[in-house]
Amino acid sequence: MSANFVALAYLVASVLFILTLKGLSSPVTSRRGNLFGMIGMAIAVLTTLSLTHNVVYILIAIAIGGTIGAVVANRIQMTAMPELVAAMHSLVGLAAVLVAMSAFQNPVAYGIALPGELLHATNRIELFIGTFVGAITFTGSIIAFGKLSGRISGKPLRFTGQHWLNLGLGIAMVGFGVAFFLEPSWTPFLIMTAIALLLGVLLIVPIGGADMPVVVSMLNSYSGWAAAGIGFTLNNNMLIIAGSLVGSSGAILSYIMCKAMNRAFLNVILGGFGGGEGEVAGSGDAVQRNYRSGSADDAGFLMGNADSVIIVPGYGLAVARAQHAINEMSKLLTEKGVKVRYAIHPVAGRMPGHMNVLLAEAEVPYDQVVEMDEINNEFADTDVVLVIGANDVVNPAAKTDKSSPIYGMPILEAHKARTVIVVKRSMATGYAGLDNDLFYLDKTMMVFGDAKKVVEDVIKSLQH
Ligand code: NDP
Repeated sequence: MSANFVALAYLVASVLFILTLKGLSSPVTSRRGNLFGMIGMAIAVLTTLSLTHNVVYILIAIAIGGTIGAVVANRIQMTAMPELVAAMHSLVGLAAVLVAMSAFQNPVAYGIALPGELLHATNRIELFIGTFVGAITFTGSIIAFGKLSGRISGKPLRFTGQHWLNLGLGIAMVGFGVAFFLEPSWTPFLIMTAIALLLGVLLIVPIGGADMPVVVSMLNSYSGWAAAGIGFTLNNNMLIIAGSLVGSSGAILSYIMCKAMNRAFLNVILGGFGGGEGEVAGSGDAVQRNYRSGSADDAGFLMGNADSVIIVPGYGLAVARAQHAINEMSKLLTEKGVKVRYAIHPVAGRMPGHMNVLLAEAEVPYDQVVEMDEINNEFADTDVVLVIGANDVVNPAAKTDKSSPIYGMPILEAHKARTVIVVKRSMATGYAGLDNDLFYLDKTMMVFGDAKKVVEDVIKSLQH
């Protein structure tokens, strides 16, 4: 294939990737965005294959990897998507490290040095950067995967001198990188890689509870930069462009999520951020407190007689797959003349945009779905708030308790409504492991049960 044709094909694929990002910025256009992404990726892969000599080996690898990917993706529940994404990021990081190692071992095969020649200075810098970003992404993403899937405790692991240790390791890593630049040999390269692997672990272990979404998008960004690093090593413009798009869009997403969570961007990049140093309470060690509980019938009665209802969906709605039922319930309420809206917190659920995706799937009208900043002023004038499977995103401790790990995080101000109904299965804590004062207010009624079952019972009561 001629060089011009390859450049043109890569250009078309790059434009498609940019259109993908544009499409994914709204639920209305996201399907089209995904389609652009698939076409762009197909063009990029086929063009790259046409440049390759040992296609058979690559096809075998694609068949094995593709089969594993298809099986895993088919089996995965929507709610486990964030941990799958974290696991995928770790593979991108590992790939960056392995490519850098093999390029260093045999630079001639990669066309970055002539036989008998030392690696060029720029290639040494590329290999250094690609390796350390890849290594940090690899181990950091494994820890994030462990925390998100519950295999590792979600509690932040903090110790004295943690920041100094990270700083010291960071300086040592750069020092060995400089040594590798001056004298390209395996010893500084491997020590630098080992330090970066350790840093990946140390940067993520202190992050706990409600701050994990920012970490996932940050690792997403790192994996993009690692891929761009491989692109430089392989002299592949497509990989540089695609990696940079992922890297920069991940960084922008991290920035947006930091703003939404009221966290400093720099603290996130350096690891170990969050509110106070407060104890994270397990569900078992909560102090006995009084709360009021009621039935689905009571909830139906309260909502059916209200003028306005705001529904706050959370992770439990996704677990129960109650999105269709809740849409049906809203339709019934709307028919009765009740003004119904959904309040969306930016980190509700387990991935950015999780609630928007669920509600779009159930075909909830977009004009009923209102983002946090817009709806927060309206809770005080609302008759009933239905908190369904949400917990951390409505926890008033984020505003009132300076010692809380979620202090400073903006919340949906459900506690300001006239009546609050909370649907969940028990008094257990949410992802951040914190008790929630909202559940103990005089105006709050707990309705215990699986979200879908409760909503179906509310529908029955509204129909009668
Ligand atoms: P939470 O995890 O705080 O609370 C969810 C609640 O849903 C639980 O308290 C649980 O209580 C209840 N629940 C679980 N299953 C069901 C069910 N079948 N029926 C009814 N209720 C159920 O969720 P939120 O959405 O409020 O907050 C999201 C949290 O996740 C935040 O801390 C956020 O930082 C974090 N996070 C978000 C990510 C993102 O990108 N959005 C990524 C990673 C973490 P019970 O067991 O009693 O039923």
